[in-house]
Amino acid sequence: MHINEDHFYPEIIDSETGKSLGYGEKGELVLTTLTKEGIPMLRYRTKDITILNPETCKCGRSNVRMNKVLGRSDDMLIIRGVNVFPSQIESVLVGMEHIGPHYQIIVSKRGYMDEIEVHVELIDGKVLEKFSELEKIEKDIRHKMRSVLQIDAKIKLVEPKSIERSVGKAKRVIDLRNK
Ligand SMILES: [Zn+2]
Repeated sequence: MHINEDHFYPEIIDSETGKSLGYGEKGELVLTTLTKEGIPMLRYRTKDITILNPETCKCGRSNVRMNKVLGRSDDMLIIRGVNVFPSQIESVLVGMEHIGPHYQIIVSKRGYMDEIEVHVELIDGKVLEKFSELEKIEKDIRHKMRSVLQIDAKIKLVEPKSIERSVGKAKRVIDLRNK
């Protein structure tokens, strides 16, 4: 998506430190309006995590482009120094055989090390009786998670309907690190 730089000045910052990042770096999009009168926005933090690309587009326009939004800075988890978004975890699970749409991410600490465990609901509980099958699915998810997140996550397959359903926004993340 092109950003109309005649009217908006885009920046990318590190959402933790507020430091400016360069083109091609992943961070939070900050916008300043240049032509708006009355209610201008000065370095408005969108909370959207994206990357800015300054290269001229195939369509001929030279305005900077922003990549697809990768996640929201308020959903972002920092695990062992790596930024992790629940949406990345979801992208791994979507479309996998035997796997339903419900999952929960549990972040904890062992000593000084962050640990992440993902509970994933099965569609059919019968799979739980077949240990080799279970192991194969868990290994498969773990492998895909590692390539997407760049960190190792523990995977636990759980019975259908065993993850608590919440009204409204699903509670996907349980962070036990500061308790
Ligand atoms: Zn274009």
